[in-house]
Amino acid sequence: MNQNKGRKIAYLDIDGVVANTGQAVIDLVKKEFHKSDVSIEDIKEYEIPKLPWLTSKEVETLLLRFNDPEFYYFIPPMPQAAQTTRLWKQKGWQVIFVTARPPHLYEVTLYWLRRHGFAFDSLIMSSPFDKVNHCQNHALCFLVEDRPDVLFHIAQIKPQIKLFLYDQPWNRTLNFSLATRIKSLAEIEAHTVEQK
Ligand SMILES: [Mg+2]
Repeated sequence: MNQNKGRKIAYLDIDGVVANTGQAVIDLVKKEFHKSDVSIEDIKEYEIPKLPWLTSKEVETLLLRFNDPEFYYFIPPMPQAAQTTRLWKQKGWQVIFVTARPPHLYEVTLYWLRRHGFAFDSLIMSSPFDKVNHCQNHALCFLVEDRPDVLFHIAQIKPQIKLFLYDQPWNRTLNFSLATRIKSLAEIEAHTVEQK
């Protein structure tokens, strides 16, 4: 008997999908570098060192902060995201968080998910390109991600997975046909995914 038969799995990225990490970066930049006129719309690259409005010294400071669990503790959650995971659980979906955050951020990430009321089955710290290796055989899966390069890669190796691109200023210029663009997790109707 195939254990995967009938399994339904929602894979969710964290930063830029359920965590408003872009806003946390902007709040930090405003506070620490006194750049009052920046907004999340100015984050046109997800790789921070490529942002032209940051000096190399500022980039260095930010990268250090990104290594510190405290930064992640204070990230605001996306509106409605936790509530949507609870709804999916009720509908029989497994919810698995997959993040490219490094292993030393595991504890703070787990704490943050619980504190904000997310319903989930597991948290996987993984390289971005290995995110959906658990979706196999007869499992029905979808993935929500904000990085187009990750989605593009997964579309090549796992064409059976339904892909959603979480709309962010750093992916907006792309016309990405492999994934459905969404502005909120609540836009995903698990029913629709099921009937694919
Ligand atoms: Mg992300």
